Amino acid sequence: MSSVNTAIQLITREQAEQGATAKGSTCSPALAKGPWDYDLAEALAGIPAYGPGASSADVAPAATPRQGQLPEAYKLASDAELGERILAAKAALGDRAVILGHFYQRDEVIQYANFVGDSFQLANAALTRPDAEAIVFCGVHFMAETADILSAPEQAVILPNLAAGCSMADMADADSVAECWEQLEEIFGTEPDAEGRVPVLPVTYMNSSAALKAFCGEHGGIVCTSSNARTVLEWAFQRAQRVLFFPDQHLGRNTAKALGVPLEQMPMWNPRRDLGGNDAQALLDSRVILWHGFCSVHKRFNVGQIEKARKDFPGVQVIVHPECPMEVVDAADSAGSTDFIKKAIAAATEPTTFAIGTEINMVNRLAAEYPQHTIFCLDPVICPCSTMYRIHPGYLAWVLEELVAGRVVNRITVAESVQDHARTALERMLAARP
Ligand code: SF4
Repeated sequence: MSSVNTAIQLITREQAEQGATAKGSTCSPALAKGPWDYDLAEALAGIPAYGPGASSADVAPAATPRQGQLPEAYKLASDAELGERILAAKAALGDRAVILGHFYQRDEVIQYANFVGDSFQLANAALTRPDAEAIVFCGVHFMAETADILSAPEQAVILPNLAAGCSMADMADADSVAECWEQLEEIFGTEPDAEGRVPVLPVTYMNSSAALKAFCGEHGGIVCTSSNARTVLEWAFQRAQRVLFFPDQHLGRNTAKALGVPLEQMPMWNPRRDLGGNDAQALLDSRVILWHGFCSVHKRFNVGQIEKARKDFPGVQVIVHPECPMEVVDAADSAGSTDFIKKAIAAATEPTTFAIGTEINMVNRLAAEYPQHTIFCLDPVICPCSTMYRIHPGYLAWVLEELVAGRVVNRITVAESVQDHARTALERMLAARP
């Protein structure tokens, strides 16, 4: 199977030549260009932008890190040349560097990774390489921050393209959450009830900035992943009357619903509105307050796609990620983290057709890994996580060659004070038991 990048290049060429009759579609033909075009556009416009693709409509906060221009040699090099340079730099660095590749990363980069996994698996994988001076994280910004929190202080965590942010993580910034918290405390007070449960506890999804993980650590709260969100919510309900869940409304809603929390007790908090757009009584009656955040990739999945898959492939197994909207999760056969999806496919003993609702790079890789099954992405439009897509092999070659030359570029550093509180919230997550 060709890579997502190859498919996008092909579609873009066909669209230019044949117009509307071209086969296949991508959410943005601009994805076919080098990511450095967006670095340049950002520099010229003076404001950061997410670029094309699934997150192009999201607003990048002004504080979003910006990538300087990649040296020209890396932009002009062919894939084969970049491959040679990456392999040579890897060989020169040996155990001094470890390369981590997220499941959603493009194939052209993943082929050089020492470890492939989800964000938390990767941060933990880095712990198995304490001798590595550099951890090159081919994911997005919050993942590199988590790796910095968990790794040794002398290890440098490097994000090959600083503009590889996560639009969902950026939907909840520390100031807006602090403001929300202040308003909630005014309504709820801070006194525990007769059972010792505090009025509200913050829970953040792993896909959030280190500052928000620290906020949770400091306020008795906790971090969750898409694998353990249920356990974490149960942990939180033992200690609090209600939960403030950010940034992903869908993971929060899907998980709380599965625990039996009625939808009317899950108001949404819109940070641009007073009381998040709610009245005080709705907040007092709530069990889970959902932040108005979402993943632009998983938001693309819809019930119509599932109905079509069931019609075209009777007996199809539909598995979706819990970042998908509730109606999609309800219509699917099952929902779970990337790890859950992988394990479900690995466990199928008979040839099976799977329609998967998660990022296309991961789905295509699963299809290649399990040729005995028919595996396809529910979304017929090729639309990768466009922020992660900004880690082009050119940036990987650049950061590795800089390391060989003794220079650390694009280091992600989380301040010591933030690290301490964030680690507390992560440790609570690791200690939480079903
Ligand atoms: S897939 Fe969604 S949640 Fe994951 S990094 Fe991309 S934008 Fe963020």
